[in-house]
Amino acid sequence: MEMPKPKTIFEPFRIKVVEPLPITNPAQRLQALKKAHYNLFTLPADCVTFDLLTDSGTSAMSSTQWAGMMVGDESYAGAKSFFRFAESISDITGHLQVIPTHQGRSAEALLTQAALKPGQVVIGNTHFDTTRANIESKGGIALDLPDPSTQDSSREEPFKGNIDLAALRATLAERAKDIAFLIMTVTNNSVGGQPVSMENIKKTRELLAQHKIPLFIDAARFAENAFFIKRRERGFEHRSIKSIAQEMFSYSDGVLMSAKKDAFGNIGGFLALRDEGLAQEIRSLMVITEGFPTYGGLAGRDMEALAIGLQEILDEDYLSYRIRSTQYFGEGIEAAGFKVVKPFGGHAVYIDAGQSLPHLKALEYPGQSLSVALYEHIGIRSVEVGSVMLGRKNWETGEELPAPKELVRLAIPRRVYTQSHVDYMIEIFGYIAPQIRNLPGYRIDYQPQFLRHFTARFSPLR
Ligand SMILES: *Cc1c(COP(=O)(O)O)cnc(C)c1O
Repeated sequence: MEMPKPKTIFEPFRIKVVEPLPITNPAQRLQALKKAHYNLFTLPADCVTFDLLTDSGTSAMSSTQWAGMMVGDESYAGAKSFFRFAESISDITGHLQVIPTHQGRSAEALLTQAALKPGQVVIGNTHFDTTRANIESKGGIALDLPDPSTQDSSREEPFKGNIDLAALRATLAERAKDIAFLIMTVTNNSVGGQPVSMENIKKTRELLAQHKIPLFIDAARFAENAFFIKRRERGFEHRSIKSIAQEMFSYSDGVLMSAKKDAFGNIGGFLALRDEGLAQEIRSLMVITEGFPTYGGLAGRDMEALAIGLQEILDEDYLSYRIRSTQYFGEGIEAAGFKVVKPFGGHAVYIDAGQSLPHLKALEYPGQSLSVALYEHIGIRSVEVGSVMLGRKNWETGEELPAPKELVRLAIPRRVYTQSHVDYMIEIFGYIAPQIRNLPGYRIDYQPQFLRHFTARFSPLR
């Protein structure tokens, strides 16, 4: 008998432990919004039915990871769990100097503290918000050189996460001596979770090598990136995910990672470096804020779970489900009548709020407006990635500068929600689509100087 090619994507796991979802109605949610000053970061989680705020630290761990938790070695120094953690990381990255940190941004803080002088430039394919904040708070300049194809959010290009090599070449010709290092973020979170090609990483490496500038990879979603390379880049069709990841890292001088993403961790991060001297310098800095170099702010059991998670995520059946189910969600939202960023990225669907709500100007924060509406009507917590998160205020003149795009991100926690959750959300997207042109703009009533989106307060313009 010929087998059909089923369209249904089933989750490649079964569920052993369940957690009830908070069920609320729109009136209760509006109440909660007012109390939270319309900032979804301020909402208590028990008011949220579908928490798509982030895929960070929200993964469901496997039974193998939980079993690992039980054998975690909690010795202060030289715990067995540290060596298993370091071995798992070195196996994939090829770098032998492994430094655990409590999460990704502390790896960024340590790297910028050790390797960046005030006034120096750090180039990126697009710096993640905490990376940018760490660079700028050390007096550095964070320079983004995204691929020009990202300007058109509906253009289908396979590797929109790439760095703009022409712009990189020009920047190097002009000011190579000012550049401290380059961070390549895979996948490129801030442009929509878009992948970076192997060729782009390799060419970047070659250009930097001429000036002896180090290349670091922000590996938060390295496995999703490797999967996209396998599916979209010539010559990688038959390679294992692990060997693709190993090749990506072979072009780097170091890797920094938030293990709350592609390591199925609820907390954790690390630096993995080639240069022993730099690693030593960081180890002497980290004892002040992170902890002893063999635990770096993590419990032994956390390192154990991460060591397992990092290998588990290389499973192609998992990655294929992951990427396909993200696409399925995106296709449903698009069919409901929203403008979405194409092609769909790995960990999230991005709605183009600027295009979906054309009646609002950038500084009326259309992304904020849409994300508030998605919470009120569907119970979804999303995050604005537009002029609230990436725009800035000139604190001398008081002028607000918009971001280039107004997006709303719906991040998908790993192995957490099922297809019926997704189908339910898509159904309500269909109900609210005809009304989105009536949504109000917002103004910012309060904002801090760094990472303002976490604590800013808003009110609707009408
Ligand atoms: C999440 C993330 C970080 C920061 O990591 P935390 O663990 O949240 O501190 C850095 N870079 C990228 C690309 C990320 O997605």
